[in-house]
Amino acid sequence: ITVRQLVEATFEQIEAKDEKINAFVTLNKAAALEKADALDAKGIDEATILAGIPLAIKDNIVTKGLRTTASSHILDNFEPVYNATVMDKLDAKDTITVGKTNLDEFAMGGSTETSYFGVTRNPWQLDKVPGGSSGGSAAAVAAGEVIAALGTDTGGSIRQPAAFNGIFGIKPTYGRVSRWGLMAFGSSLDQIGVLSRSVKDSALVLNAISGQDAHDGTSIDTAVPDFTAALGQSVKGMKIAVPKEYMGEGIDPDIVAAVKAAIATFEKLGATVDEVTLPYTKYAVPAYYIIASSEASSNLQRYDGIRYGFRAKDVHSLDDVYIKSRSEGFGDEVKRRIMLGTFSLSAGYYDAYFKKAAQVRTLIKQDFEKIFETHDLILGPTTPTPAYGIGEKITDPVTMYLNDILTIPANLAGIPAASMPAGFSKAGLPIGVQLMAKTLNETAIFTAADAFE
Ligand code: GLN
Repeated sequence: ITVRQLVEATFEQIEAKDEKINAFVTLNKAAALEKADALDAKGIDEATILAGIPLAIKDNIVTKGLRTTASSHILDNFEPVYNATVMDKLDAKDTITVGKTNLDEFAMGGSTETSYFGVTRNPWQLDKVPGGSSGGSAAAVAAGEVIAALGTDTGGSIRQPAAFNGIFGIKPTYGRVSRWGLMAFGSSLDQIGVLSRSVKDSALVLNAISGQDAHDGTSIDTAVPDFTAALGQSVKGMKIAVPKEYMGEGIDPDIVAAVKAAIATFEKLGATVDEVTLPYTKYAVPAYYIIASSEASSNLQRYDGIRYGFRAKDVHSLDDVYIKSRSEGFGDEVKRRIMLGTFSLSAGYYDAYFKKAAQVRTLIKQDFEKIFETHDLILGPTTPTPAYGIGEKITDPVTMYLNDILTIPANLAGIPAASMPAGFSKAGLPIGVQLMAKTLNETAIFTAADAFE
């Protein structure tokens, strides 16, 4: 099979399915086929296993010459003049970008319903959300449009949609992958990662995109292990911790059952499983929404109607340009976060909100460090419920925020975390089980997820 044939087959799938699913905001067909022909002419280097492989990219990762919108009206005509570091790294492996996937506007949300380009549908049941914010990437993989996609995870946006779509998704350690060219939401939390059907494909793509980058001062200067070397290894003797806070009130019984089944599987494979406690879990959601919104309010200042994208018409002064462009360009959820963040950072409120949240963050981090002194992995559910109906929660932001309780702690602590498929609910919706490990120990996650698969 030639690369052109593979890319053509991929677009056939996308064209057949995406009218219903709406996973993609922008397709890159002409450029993808051109690159396929170039690769066919040059010949594929067998050593670069990713060469010629079609991938989808979340639309908050900038792609040179290919429209990048963050699913926002304010950027709906924005064509970046440079590549994110991850895109340069994928280019070096000769992968093929087939298109940009839908997300909640600026990655703020958990259902892809806040996108300016309309909701993405869950391929398992079209009236259900695909999760979010990387809902487009997850749905594209689950629908069989691509084998893998890049996503981003600030508070669960890779793991939660992976769980809702029955696929694997990994958020690496904060700093493992460069954030250069990722449109910043919560800079101290944001991390690029991978969604794929198989664990191995995620290991391969993560190998390609990891590593220190001079453009990102928070990227970690440490050697990147070959994540595929973690595959096919035994979990015998591995110590797994299950936090009781993750299995209690508010978790759907089908999900508790799936997690218990996963525990039994790991025990059968030779791991030991203990119940532990992460007592500060209950403060994670409020702390996260203050920190993420504060950082967002600062990061989104740059969208002023002048430097990028959309500019309002009928403006009569500079203030008018700012106010009208931002009022018309941003959606409700983004505005809510900007207001919340501006409030919690303002003089007189800083100590009560932002500073408190930062202190809570430290306590949550210490909760994890303590567990990882004695255990290799933490296992629990990825989400409290399976995918819910489109329109069901979008009008109630607080309920929406509370749903992130199981994924947010890993971002606050900066540790790697993944969701792997672990069966179905009685209603036939996929369930995800989450694995977390200590900083830079993605290897343990890959070993366990591969053994489970
Ligand atoms: N649902 C969370 C939020 O709305 C997480 C989003 C994300 O990880 N990008 O902030």
